[in-house]
Amino acid sequence: MATLKHSRGKFFHTHKMPPDRSFWRYFHDTVESQTGISLVSKSGNRFTFADWKPERSNCEQLTFVLEGLTLNLLDDWKALARNLFVGRILDGEINAKAWSEKQAGIVEITLQYTHVLGAYAATYNEYYQSIRGLMEVLTKVESDDDVVAALTARLERPWKEIRNQQDQWKDPKLIYGGCASLFSWVDPSRLPLVEEMVLSAEAFAVAHELSHHLLGHTNTKREKSSARRVLHEAVRATSIPQIMLPMNPSQRQEIEADALAFLICANALRGTPTFPEIYNALAGSALALIAAAHLNDDWIPDEIAPSHPAFFDRMQVIAEMTTLTTAGRPEDNELGHPLGFLAQLQTFAGLALNAFLHQNDPENYRRVNLLDVASHLTELADKLELPGAEDDA
Ligand SMILES: [Zn+2]
Repeated sequence: MATLKHSRGKFFHTHKMPPDRSFWRYFHDTVESQTGISLVSKSGNRFTFADWKPERSNCEQLTFVLEGLTLNLLDDWKALARNLFVGRILDGEINAKAWSEKQAGIVEITLQYTHVLGAYAATYNEYYQSIRGLMEVLTKVESDDDVVAALTARLERPWKEIRNQQDQWKDPKLIYGGCASLFSWVDPSRLPLVEEMVLSAEAFAVAHELSHHLLGHTNTKREKSSARRVLHEAVRATSIPQIMLPMNPSQRQEIEADALAFLICANALRGTPTFPEIYNALAGSALALIAAAHLNDDWIPDEIAPSHPAFFDRMQVIAEMTTLTTAGRPEDNELGHPLGFLAQLQTFAGLALNAFLHQNDPENYRRVNLLDVASHLTELADKLELPGAEDDA
Protein backbone atom coordinates (compact mmCIF):
# COMPACT_ATOMS: atom_id res chain seq x y z
CA MET A 1 0.00 0.00 0.00
CA ALA A 2 1.09 3.54 -0.71
CA THR A 3 2.32 5.81 2.05
CA LEU A 4 2.00 9.59 1.86
CA LYS A 5 5.75 10.03 2.35
CA HIS A 6 6.55 7.79 -0.65
CA SER A 7 3.78 9.30 -2.76
CA ARG A 8 5.01 12.83 -2.11
CA GLY A 9 8.65 11.91 -2.71
CA LYS A 10 7.85 10.09 -5.94
CA PHE A 11 5.77 12.99 -7.27
CA PHE A 12 8.45 15.62 -6.71
CA HIS A 13 11.21 13.34 -7.98
CA THR A 14 9.31 12.45 -11.17
CA HIS A 15 8.44 16.06 -12.00
CA LYS A 16 11.78 17.47 -10.85
CA MET A 17 10.07 20.07 -8.69
CA PRO A 18 11.46 21.41 -5.41
CA PRO A 19 9.70 19.42 -2.64
CA ASP A 20 9.55 22.31 -0.20
CA ARG A 21 7.51 24.70 -2.28
CA SER A 22 3.96 25.20 -3.48
CA PHE A 23 3.22 24.85 -7.18
CA TRP A 24 2.52 28.58 -7.45
CA ARG A 25 5.80 29.51 -5.79
CA TYR A 26 7.59 27.12 -8.16
CA PHE A 27 5.66 28.48 -11.15
CA HIS A 28 6.59 32.00 -10.14
CA ASP A 29 10.26 31.13 -9.61
CA THR A 30 10.47 29.23 -12.90
CA VAL A 31 8.85 31.94 -14.98
CA GLU A 32 10.83 34.66 -13.23
CA SER A 33 14.18 32.95 -13.71
CA GLN A 34 13.47 32.30 -17.38
CA THR A 35 11.97 35.62 -18.35
CA GLY A 36 13.09 38.08 -15.70
CA ILE A 37 9.46 39.09 -15.27
CA SER A 38 8.35 39.16 -11.67
CA LEU A 39 4.88 37.81 -11.07
CA VAL A 40 4.59 38.89 -7.47
CA SER A 41 1.59 41.13 -7.35
CA LYS A 42 1.61 44.42 -5.45
CA SER A 43 -1.05 43.13 -3.09
CA GLY A 44 1.22 40.13 -2.72
CA ASN A 45 -1.38 37.36 -2.72
CA ARG A 46 -0.88 33.86 -3.97
CA PHE A 47 2.81 33.99 -4.84
CA THR A 48 3.94 35.09 -1.42
CA PHE A 49 2.96 32.25 0.88
CA ALA A 50 6.55 31.17 1.32
CA ASP A 51 5.75 29.35 4.57
CA TRP A 52 3.21 27.00 3.05
CA LYS A 53 4.61 23.46 2.87
CA PRO A 54 3.34 20.81 0.46
CA GLU A 55 1.95 17.92 2.49
CA ARG A 56 -0.86 16.12 0.65
CA SER A 57 -0.58 18.37 -2.40
CA ASN A 58 1.69 21.06 -3.83
CA CYS A 59 -1.27 23.41 -4.15
CA GLU A 60 -3.42 24.77 -1.33
CA GLN A 61 -6.53 24.62 -3.48
CA LEU A 62 -6.00 20.96 -4.34
CA THR A 63 -5.32 20.13 -0.68
CA PHE A 64 -8.70 21.62 0.11
CA VAL A 65 -10.33 19.66 -2.75
CA LEU A 66 -8.76 16.37 -1.66
CA GLU A 67 -9.73 16.85 1.98
CA GLY A 68 -13.33 17.59 0.97
CA LEU A 69 -13.50 14.52 -1.25
CA THR A 70 -11.94 12.31 1.44
CA LEU A 71 -14.68 13.31 3.91
CA ASN A 72 -17.27 12.00 1.43
CA LEU A 73 -15.69 8.53 1.21
CA LEU A 74 -16.78 5.46 3.14
CA ASP A 75 -14.65 5.14 6.28
CA ASP A 76 -12.64 2.12 5.19
CA TRP A 77 -11.59 3.86 1.92
CA LYS A 78 -10.19 6.92 3.66
CA ALA A 79 -6.78 5.50 4.54
CA LEU A 80 -6.03 4.93 0.86
CA ALA A 81 -7.03 8.51 -0.05
CA ARG A 82 -4.96 9.94 2.81
CA ASN A 83 -1.83 8.29 1.44
CA LEU A 84 -2.15 9.70 -2.07
CA PHE A 85 -0.38 12.85 -3.19
CA VAL A 86 -2.33 15.16 -5.49
CA GLY A 87 -0.12 17.40 -7.57
CA ARG A 88 -0.55 20.25 -9.98
CA ILE A 89 1.96 20.08 -12.81
CA LEU A 90 3.35 22.47 -15.39
CA ASP A 91 2.31 20.70 -18.54
CA GLY A 92 0.68 21.67 -21.84
CA GLU A 93 -1.64 18.63 -22.09
CA ILE A 94 -5.33 18.99 -21.18
CA ASN A 95 -5.18 16.13 -18.78
CA ALA A 96 -5.41 14.58 -15.33
CA LYS A 97 -3.86 11.25 -14.42
CA ALA A 98 -3.72 8.54 -11.73
CA TRP A 99 -0.70 6.30 -11.34
CA SER A 100 1.02 4.20 -8.74
CA GLU A 101 4.41 2.64 -8.26
CA LYS A 102 5.60 0.50 -5.39
CA GLN A 103 4.55 2.42 -2.28
CA ALA A 104 3.49 5.60 -4.07
CA GLY A 105 0.04 6.64 -5.32
CA ILE A 106 -0.30 9.85 -7.33
CA VAL A 107 -3.04 12.00 -8.80
CA GLU A 108 -1.96 14.84 -11.03
CA ILE A 109 -3.71 17.58 -12.96
CA THR A 110 -2.11 19.91 -15.48
CA LEU A 111 -2.24 23.68 -15.26
CA GLN A 112 -3.42 23.64 -18.89
CA TYR A 113 -6.55 21.67 -17.93
CA THR A 114 -7.45 24.28 -15.31
CA HIS A 115 -7.03 27.13 -17.80
CA VAL A 116 -9.31 25.38 -20.27
CA LEU A 117 -11.92 24.67 -17.57
CA GLY A 118 -11.96 28.41 -16.87
CA ALA A 119 -12.64 29.16 -20.54
CA TYR A 120 -15.57 26.75 -20.74
CA ALA A 121 -17.04 27.88 -17.41
CA ALA A 122 -17.06 31.47 -18.74
CA THR A 123 -18.61 30.21 -22.00
CA TYR A 124 -21.32 28.34 -20.07
CA ASN A 125 -22.12 31.55 -18.23
CA GLU A 126 -22.62 33.46 -21.49
CA TYR A 127 -24.91 30.69 -22.75
CA TYR A 128 -26.91 30.77 -19.52
CA GLN A 129 -27.22 34.55 -19.53
CA SER A 130 -28.27 34.78 -23.17
CA ILE A 131 -30.99 32.14 -22.68
CA ARG A 132 -32.21 33.89 -19.54
CA GLY A 133 -32.27 37.20 -21.40
CA LEU A 134 -34.29 35.62 -24.21
CA MET A 135 -36.83 34.20 -21.76
CA GLU A 136 -37.30 37.71 -20.37
CA VAL A 137 -37.85 39.14 -23.86
CA LEU A 138 -40.39 36.42 -24.66
CA THR A 139 -42.52 37.30 -21.66
CA LYS A 140 -43.00 40.83 -22.96
CA VAL A 141 -45.91 41.73 -25.20
CA GLU A 142 -43.75 43.42 -27.83
CA SER A 143 -40.59 41.61 -28.76
CA ASP A 144 -37.47 43.66 -29.22
CA ASP A 145 -35.43 42.52 -32.23
CA ASP A 146 -32.35 44.49 -31.18
CA VAL A 147 -32.27 42.80 -27.80
CA VAL A 148 -32.61 39.36 -29.41
CA ALA A 149 -29.80 40.19 -31.85
CA ALA A 150 -27.57 41.26 -28.95
CA LEU A 151 -28.36 38.07 -27.05
CA THR A 152 -27.63 35.98 -30.15
CA ALA A 153 -24.24 37.67 -30.47
CA ARG A 154 -23.64 37.00 -26.79
CA LEU A 155 -24.33 33.29 -27.30
CA GLU A 156 -21.95 33.06 -30.28
CA ARG A 157 -19.07 35.26 -29.15
CA PRO A 158 -17.37 32.83 -26.71
CA TRP A 159 -17.33 30.02 -29.29
CA LYS A 160 -15.54 32.28 -31.74
CA GLU A 161 -13.04 33.11 -29.01
CA ILE A 162 -12.53 29.41 -28.23
CA ARG A 163 -11.90 28.80 -31.92
CA ASN A 164 -9.26 31.55 -31.89
CA GLN A 165 -7.48 30.11 -28.87
CA GLN A 166 -7.87 26.38 -29.33
CA ASP A 167 -4.71 25.72 -31.32
CA GLN A 168 -2.64 27.13 -28.48
CA TRP A 169 -4.64 25.23 -25.87
CA LYS A 170 -4.25 22.01 -27.81
CA ASP A 171 -0.51 22.42 -28.34
CA PRO A 172 1.08 20.08 -25.75
CA LYS A 173 4.33 22.06 -25.84
CA LEU A 174 2.60 25.23 -24.71
CA ILE A 175 1.06 26.22 -21.37
CA TYR A 176 -1.40 28.80 -22.43
CA GLY A 177 -3.89 30.90 -20.44
CA GLY A 178 -5.93 32.75 -23.03
CA CYS A 179 -9.08 33.13 -20.88
CA ALA A 180 -8.79 36.87 -20.21
CA SER A 181 -11.27 38.04 -22.85
CA LEU A 182 -13.75 35.29 -21.96
CA PHE A 183 -13.61 36.29 -18.30
CA SER A 184 -13.90 40.00 -19.16
CA TRP A 185 -17.37 39.29 -20.62
CA VAL A 186 -18.68 37.74 -17.41
CA ASP A 187 -20.83 40.10 -15.32
CA PRO A 188 -18.84 40.84 -12.14
CA SER A 189 -21.78 39.65 -10.03
CA ARG A 190 -21.52 36.20 -11.69
CA LEU A 191 -17.73 35.79 -11.40
CA PRO A 192 -17.89 33.91 -8.06
CA LEU A 193 -20.33 31.42 -9.65
CA VAL A 194 -18.05 30.91 -12.63
CA GLU A 195 -15.06 30.38 -10.34
CA GLU A 196 -17.07 27.94 -8.27
CA MET A 197 -17.88 26.00 -11.43
CA VAL A 198 -14.16 25.74 -12.25
CA LEU A 199 -13.49 24.43 -8.73
CA SER A 200 -16.29 21.87 -9.11
CA ALA A 201 -14.78 20.70 -12.40
CA GLU A 202 -11.30 20.44 -10.88
CA ALA A 203 -12.79 18.51 -7.97
CA PHE A 204 -14.50 16.14 -10.41
CA ALA A 205 -11.23 15.61 -12.33
CA VAL A 206 -9.43 14.81 -9.05
CA ALA A 207 -12.32 12.58 -7.89
CA HIS A 208 -12.18 10.68 -11.20
CA GLU A 209 -8.47 9.95 -10.68
CA LEU A 210 -8.99 9.15 -7.00
CA SER A 211 -11.68 6.69 -8.14
CA HIS A 212 -9.18 4.91 -10.41
CA HIS A 213 -7.07 4.33 -7.28
CA LEU A 214 -10.04 3.25 -5.14
CA LEU A 215 -11.32 0.88 -7.84
CA GLY A 216 -7.94 -0.81 -8.10
CA HIS A 217 -7.30 0.34 -11.68
CA THR A 218 -3.81 1.55 -10.83
CA ASN A 219 -2.87 -1.52 -8.83
CA THR A 220 -3.81 -5.04 -9.94
CA LYS A 221 -3.72 -6.32 -6.35
CA ARG A 222 -6.76 -4.24 -5.47
CA GLU A 223 -8.96 -5.70 -8.18
CA LYS A 224 -11.65 -6.95 -5.81
CA SER A 225 -11.87 -3.63 -4.01
CA SER A 226 -14.78 -2.69 -1.80
CA ALA A 227 -15.26 0.42 -3.97
CA ARG A 228 -16.00 -1.78 -6.97
CA ARG A 229 -18.59 -3.77 -5.05
CA VAL A 230 -20.29 -0.64 -3.76
CA LEU A 231 -20.29 1.02 -7.19
CA HIS A 232 -21.62 -2.03 -9.04
CA GLU A 233 -24.39 -2.43 -6.49
CA ALA A 234 -25.29 1.29 -6.78
CA VAL A 235 -25.58 1.32 -10.59
CA ARG A 236 -27.16 -2.14 -10.97
CA ALA A 237 -30.62 -0.76 -11.74
CA THR A 238 -29.39 1.98 -14.13
CA SER A 239 -28.55 1.60 -17.82
CA ILE A 240 -24.81 1.94 -17.02
CA PRO A 241 -24.13 -1.83 -17.22
CA GLN A 242 -25.66 -1.81 -20.75
CA ILE A 243 -23.62 1.25 -21.75
CA MET A 244 -20.47 -0.59 -20.66
CA LEU A 245 -21.34 -3.88 -22.34
CA PRO A 246 -19.81 -3.23 -25.81
CA MET A 247 -16.77 -1.42 -24.38
CA ASN A 248 -13.19 -2.58 -23.98
CA PRO A 249 -11.71 -2.96 -20.45
CA SER A 250 -9.98 0.42 -20.52
CA GLN A 251 -13.17 2.23 -21.53
CA ARG A 252 -15.10 0.40 -18.80
CA GLN A 253 -12.63 1.65 -16.24
CA GLU A 254 -13.25 5.23 -17.39
CA ILE A 255 -17.01 4.80 -17.02
CA GLU A 256 -16.56 3.28 -13.55
CA ALA A 257 -14.30 6.17 -12.51
CA ASP A 258 -16.84 8.76 -13.79
CA ALA A 259 -19.72 7.09 -11.95
CA LEU A 260 -17.84 6.73 -8.67
CA ALA A 261 -16.47 10.29 -8.96
CA PHE A 262 -20.03 11.55 -9.32
CA LEU A 263 -21.09 9.72 -6.13
CA ILE A 264 -18.06 11.12 -4.27
CA CYS A 265 -18.53 14.72 -5.48
CA ALA A 266 -22.26 14.59 -4.71
CA ASN A 267 -21.57 13.11 -1.25
CA ALA A 268 -23.96 10.29 -2.14
CA LEU A 269 -22.01 7.40 -0.57
CA ARG A 270 -22.86 8.28 3.01
CA GLY A 271 -26.55 9.05 2.66
CA THR A 272 -28.98 11.02 0.53
CA PRO A 273 -27.23 14.05 -0.98
CA THR A 274 -28.73 17.55 -0.90
CA PHE A 275 -29.65 19.26 -4.19
CA PRO A 276 -26.70 21.72 -3.92
CA GLU A 277 -24.35 18.73 -3.54
CA ILE A 278 -25.84 17.14 -6.66
CA TYR A 279 -25.60 20.48 -8.53
CA ASN A 280 -21.92 20.58 -7.61
CA ALA A 281 -21.28 17.07 -8.97
CA LEU A 282 -23.32 17.76 -12.07
CA ALA A 283 -21.71 21.11 -12.93
CA GLY A 284 -18.22 19.74 -12.31
CA SER A 285 -18.61 16.50 -14.25
CA ALA A 286 -20.34 18.06 -17.25
CA LEU A 287 -17.86 20.94 -17.53
CA ALA A 288 -14.81 18.67 -17.18
CA LEU A 289 -16.14 16.26 -19.82
CA ILE A 290 -17.35 18.93 -22.29
CA ALA A 291 -14.06 20.88 -22.17
CA ALA A 292 -11.96 17.76 -22.73
CA ALA A 293 -14.26 16.43 -25.50
CA HIS A 294 -14.34 19.73 -27.37
CA LEU A 295 -10.59 20.20 -27.40
CA ASN A 296 -9.58 16.55 -27.77
CA ASP A 297 -12.33 15.80 -30.36
CA ASP A 298 -13.68 12.90 -28.27
CA TRP A 299 -17.32 13.15 -29.35
CA ILE A 300 -17.50 9.75 -30.96
CA PRO A 301 -15.42 6.60 -30.30
CA ASP A 302 -11.96 6.87 -31.77
CA GLU A 303 -10.89 3.80 -33.73
CA ILE A 304 -7.24 4.68 -33.46
CA ALA A 305 -6.96 5.44 -29.76
CA PRO A 306 -9.94 3.76 -28.14
CA SER A 307 -8.74 3.96 -24.52
CA HIS A 308 -11.45 6.47 -23.61
CA PRO A 309 -15.19 6.11 -24.22
CA ALA A 310 -16.95 8.66 -26.40
CA PHE A 311 -18.24 11.84 -24.82
CA PHE A 312 -21.94 11.04 -25.26
CA ASP A 313 -21.62 7.72 -23.43
CA ARG A 314 -19.87 9.49 -20.58
CA MET A 315 -22.50 12.23 -20.50
CA GLN A 316 -25.20 9.55 -20.48
CA VAL A 317 -23.56 8.06 -17.39
CA ILE A 318 -23.69 11.48 -15.69
CA ALA A 319 -27.39 11.68 -16.60
CA GLU A 320 -27.99 8.22 -15.13
CA MET A 321 -26.18 9.17 -11.92
CA THR A 322 -28.27 12.34 -11.64
CA THR A 323 -31.47 10.34 -12.03
CA LEU A 324 -30.21 7.76 -9.53
CA THR A 325 -29.43 10.34 -6.85
CA THR A 326 -32.64 12.33 -7.34
CA ALA A 327 -35.11 9.54 -8.08
CA GLY A 328 -38.63 10.41 -6.99
CA ARG A 329 -37.58 13.65 -5.31
CA PRO A 330 -39.87 16.62 -5.97
CA GLU A 331 -38.78 19.96 -7.36
CA ASP A 332 -37.61 22.43 -4.72
CA ASN A 333 -39.37 25.79 -4.79
CA GLU A 334 -36.11 27.70 -4.52
CA LEU A 335 -33.48 25.30 -5.84
CA GLY A 336 -35.39 23.81 -8.76
CA HIS A 337 -34.47 20.24 -9.68
CA PRO A 338 -31.12 18.71 -10.72
CA LEU A 339 -32.80 17.14 -13.77
CA GLY A 340 -33.63 20.68 -14.98
CA PHE A 341 -29.99 21.67 -14.58
CA LEU A 342 -28.98 18.46 -16.39
CA ALA A 343 -31.14 19.53 -19.37
CA GLN A 344 -29.33 22.89 -19.44
CA LEU A 345 -25.94 21.19 -19.40
CA GLN A 346 -26.94 18.67 -22.08
CA THR A 347 -28.05 21.55 -24.30
CA PHE A 348 -24.73 23.30 -23.65
CA ALA A 349 -22.93 20.10 -24.70
CA GLY A 350 -25.01 20.09 -27.89
CA LEU A 351 -23.94 23.67 -28.52
CA ALA A 352 -20.27 22.72 -28.10
CA LEU A 353 -20.72 19.82 -30.53
CA ASN A 354 -22.46 22.10 -33.02
CA ALA A 355 -19.60 24.62 -32.80
CA PHE A 356 -17.15 21.78 -33.47
CA LEU A 357 -19.10 20.35 -36.43
CA HIS A 358 -19.79 23.74 -37.98
CA GLN A 359 -16.14 24.66 -37.76
CA ASN A 360 -15.02 21.45 -39.47
CA ASP A 361 -17.78 21.16 -42.05
CA PRO A 362 -19.69 24.44 -42.46
CA GLU A 363 -21.38 23.18 -45.66
CA ASN A 364 -23.26 20.44 -43.87
CA TYR A 365 -23.64 21.87 -40.39
CA ARG A 366 -25.21 25.26 -39.95
CA ARG A 367 -24.59 27.06 -36.68
CA VAL A 368 -27.57 26.73 -34.36
CA ASN A 369 -29.00 30.04 -33.18
CA LEU A 370 -30.47 31.28 -29.92
CA LEU A 371 -34.04 30.34 -30.83
CA ASP A 372 -32.96 26.77 -31.74
CA VAL A 373 -31.27 26.49 -28.37
CA ALA A 374 -34.28 27.86 -26.49
CA SER A 375 -36.74 25.55 -28.25
CA HIS A 376 -34.47 22.55 -27.56
CA LEU A 377 -34.43 23.47 -23.87
CA THR A 378 -38.21 23.83 -23.81
CA GLU A 379 -38.56 20.42 -25.44
CA LEU A 380 -36.32 18.82 -22.81
CA ALA A 381 -38.17 20.62 -20.02
CA ASP A 382 -41.52 19.37 -21.34
CA LYS A 383 -40.23 15.80 -21.31
CA LEU A 384 -39.20 16.05 -17.67
CA GLU A 385 -41.71 14.35 -15.47
CA LEU A 386 -40.97 15.63 -12.02
CA PRO A 387 -43.08 14.81 -9.02
CA GLY A 388 -44.91 18.03 -8.03
CA ALA A 389 -43.32 20.42 -5.56
CA GLU A 390 -44.18 19.64 -1.97
CA ASP A 391 -47.17 21.54 -0.73
CA ASP A 392 -46.41 23.22 2.58
CA ALA A 393 -50.04 24.17 3.23
ZN1 LIG B 1 -9.64 8.04 -16.27
